[in-house]
Amino acid sequence: MKDDCIFCKIAAGQIPSATLWEDGDFRVILDLGPASRGHALILPKEHYADLCELDDAVGAKVMPLARKIGSAMMKALGCAGFNVVQNNGEAAGQTVRHFHVHIIPRYEGGPKIVAWEPGELNDADKAQIVEAVKMKL
Ligand code: AMP
Ligand code: ZN
Repeated sequence: MKDDCIFCKIAAGQIPSATLWEDGDFRVILDLGPASRGHALILPKEHYADLCELDDAVGAKVMPLARKIGSAMMKALGCAGFNVVQNNGEAAGQTVRHFHVHIIPRYEGGPKIVAWEPGELNDADKAQIVEAVKMKL
């Protein structure tokens, strides 16, 4: 646990939260600034700043939990789908440096929440990117 981390305190139950799920590894809470009705956050109880730091065994449990929460939202809240979003680094929009996963319910006819304008991938760039990234794997 990191002393100055708000999500560590929430995950540990030291700061009250609207908790949807709790087990030995995670607490799932409602986001205080929801993108849509029911927006939730999966918080590991251990502190990892981001996905790069996340423990593999904990990480392996994240997607099954995201599915569990998202499926329950579809039954309980009437959303037609949900986005699973996970930001790493300030440039990617991460504001709290404790790994977390957003589960964002999406409603029929609702606003675009997770969207971007598609660019273009040219052949030269494609080759360069593939070579550069593969070198670091
Ligand atoms: P991110 O931008 O991916 O780091 O997401 C951080 C999220 O945490 C935002 O959606 C905030 O609304 C949410 N948030 C920040 N503080 C709290 C809090 N105390 N309780 C619940 N959600 C929070
Ligand atoms: Zn933390």
